[in-house]
Parts: sequence; structure tokens; C-alpha cells
Amino acid sequence: MHLKVLLASLSLHAWPSTPNNATVLYLKEGASDQFMMQESNAVQPKRCVVTGGAGFIGSHLVERLLTDGHAVTVLDNFSSGHRKNLQSLSSNSKLKICQVDIAEYEQIKEHFVEIDWVFHLAALADIVPSIEQPLSYHRSNVDGTISVLEAARQTGVKRFIYAASSSCYGLATEFPTPETAAIKTEYPYALTKYLAECYVLHWNQVYKLPCISLRLINVYGPRARTTGSYGAVFGVFLAQKLAGRPYTVVGDGNQTRDFTFVSDVVQAFIQAAQSELSGEIFNVGSGGTYSINKLIALLGGDKVHIPKRPGEPDCTFACISKISKALGWQPQVGFEEGVAKMLEHIDDWREAPVWDEKSIDIATRQWFEHLGESKGSETPHSKHKILCTEEALCSATSSEEHKDCK
Ligand code: UDP
Repeated sequence: MHLKVLLASLSLHAWPSTPNNATVLYLKEGASDQFMMQESNAVQPKRCVVTGGAGFIGSHLVERLLTDGHAVTVLDNFSSGHRKNLQSLSSNSKLKICQVDIAEYEQIKEHFVEIDWVFHLAALADIVPSIEQPLSYHRSNVDGTISVLEAARQTGVKRFIYAASSSCYGLATEFPTPETAAIKTEYPYALTKYLAECYVLHWNQVYKLPCISLRLINVYGPRARTTGSYGAVFGVFLAQKLAGRPYTVVGDGNQTRDFTFVSDVVQAFIQAAQSELSGEIFNVGSGGTYSINKLIALLGGDKVHIPKRPGEPDCTFACISKISKALGWQPQVGFEEGVAKMLEHIDDWREAPVWDEKSIDIATRQWFEHLGESKGSETPHSKHKILCTEEALCSATSSEEHKDCK
């Protein structure tokens, strides 16, 4: 009891710079007694593999692991990751960067020898290209995961944390959406990320590989989407802002997203690795949901409207009760603060493609063709229409009903 009080008074949110020579006890609000205190493994530096470490989330995770004194091997084929994401860390002697295809088991297995923690983030992302190239997506996201799992198992790694996707919930009907919600994959990207999660849990079940799957949702932060195909909204809007072009708002802009800041996601990875739990799936979200119109109000500037996209949810909103209780994890960065940080880093998007109504129309043709209405009069949206306004969700989050989700 005395210990708890003492620790509470120290306000132990040790991130981002946990000292390596001290044992730190984390105390998180809302965590159950059972999981309230976790001894940080920062006292003992770990050897880590981060697949996809040159990508957006991966590079933030690598940065944090190095800051905490761990050694990191990045495995990345640089198909969507960039060396420049790791440039500021390149002089760190504890960082090794290997250009390799994770689906090539023979080529990656040597990198797993004597590794403590594996963070598996390498994957092909985005909806449209996954519809166009299902085989590539299966190879990278499913075969790649099996290859990494097998390398981890054969070398006896101690913890395996998988970056899963909340796209597995598809057009969810329950908000906040718990981990137990029905799986409804709408396109190959979502399917492959979900299949890979099944493999991760299977390797835990059959081979006792200590695994945790984190279902990420609408992650944003510096370095998000600075190149490549049409995709995540922040990259699109920030490049438009820099170019003085109007924001292309899908539909009426009242749709909401559970925008989760990248440092919170990184913290979830670290706590999952430090935990002794395995075989578990956890949602990682912001604890709220925010409309595109709100995002535009925070960014400031003009907008144009573009057609609503088929198969897209009106709302994403993950229930985070499970991870809060089990790992004592809570998001720390509010939406306004996160958007302000994005604006501080807006120069990251100087080279990013600037999308407009016309180029988006061309880029999303396959999307409309394969997921669109032409197959019937009832749209996925009208079929699953649910009350999902910011106001409704705010009250849902705070209500008793949603405290534990399910
Ligand atoms: N969005 C938008 N304009 C764009 C791109 C996206 O209004 O040019 C909206 C989109 O309708 C969605 C939200 O931004 O409601 C997030 O889209 P993103 O593709 O980043 O994530 P996802 O839809 O996969 O959750």
C-alpha cells in the first residue's frame, strides 16, 4: 500500500526517456490491481528485431528502443519504408539495418539468433493496391509473417509482438468496438493482415511462441505517408495544405476516425513486449473518435467534397478497456495535441504527392469497381447505418455501458 502511494506520487510515466540504470515501476490510472505494477525491462537491454523498421510506425519504434538502450536490427525491403526515416539514428552503434525480403526465410533466419524481442510490422499497406495485387499482398503479409514467425520460433525468441489491423472489423456495428467483435474483412489488405494474425496466434498455441497481437487503428504522426499511392488522410491533407490546395473531403466529412498518435502506439508495443501475457489480442486506439470536419477545422483551410467510398466505415472507434486493464496502457496524446504536432512537422510532406479530385478519382477507380454499388441497390453503408456521431460516441465512452466493452 505504502509502495503504491509512493509510486503514485512519483507519477510514473517514464516514457520517452526511461533511464537504463534504474528499475522503474509503471503505475497507470484505470489499471486493475493485478496488472497495476509492471517492472520495466529497461534495466536490462534487449536485442530486438523490428521488421518494417524503416516504415512510419516502425521507425518511431526503433527510435524509442534505441533511446531505451536496446539493440535493434531492422529488417526492411524498403518497398514502402525509407532509409531517411532512420537517418537521424544511423550513427547509433546499436542499430543494424538489413535490406531483406521477410518472406525469404533462409535469408532472414540468421538475424533472429539470440534475439529477445521481435516486433513484426513489415507489411504492404493500403486498400486500392491490395485489390489490384492480391498475390503480392498475400506474399508479403501472410507468407512474410509465417517466415518471421518460424525464424522466431527456431531461434527461441522471448517475445513476439505483431502489428495487426483493426480493418478486420470492417463495417463494425458496435462502438467502441471490442476485440470480440465479428471479423468482416472487406478487401485483401484487411484479409491478409487478419490471416497473419491467425498465424501469430497459432504459433503461440502450437509452438508456445510468446506472442501478442496489437490491432492498430488510424495511426498518425510525423513521417506518416510522405510518398506513394493515395492513402491515409493526414498525408493527403498536409500535402494539400502545403500546396495551398483545398482538402478533398470524402462524403460530408461527418465520418469519424479513432486517430491514434504514433508515440502512444509505440508505448503499447513496448508494454506488450515487457508483459508476460501471451496469446492475446489487444486493440490500440485513442479512446475517442473524431470527424474529418473536426480535423479540417484544426488544420484550417478550404475544402472540396469528393464521393463517398464504398466499403468504408462511417466510424472507427476501438474499445481499449482490455489493454488498459491487462497492460495498464493508456493513450497520452489527445487529438488537438496530436494535430498540433503534425503541423509542427508539416515539412515532412514537402515532397509528398498532392492529390486533387481528378487524380483521386483515377486512383480509386478499382476501389469503386470492386467494392461499389453496382452489385446491388443496397450499399454497405446503408445496410450498416449506425448512430455514430462524435457526441454519441463521447457519451458512449464515458458511460458505464462501455467501460468494459465486453
Ligand atoms: N478522407 C478524406 N479525404 C481524403 C482521404 C481520406 O476525407 O482525401 C477520409 C476518409 O473518408 C476517412 C478518413 O479520412 O473517413 C480516414 O481515411 P484513411 O484512408 O486515412 O483511413 P481509413 O478510412 O482506412 O480508416
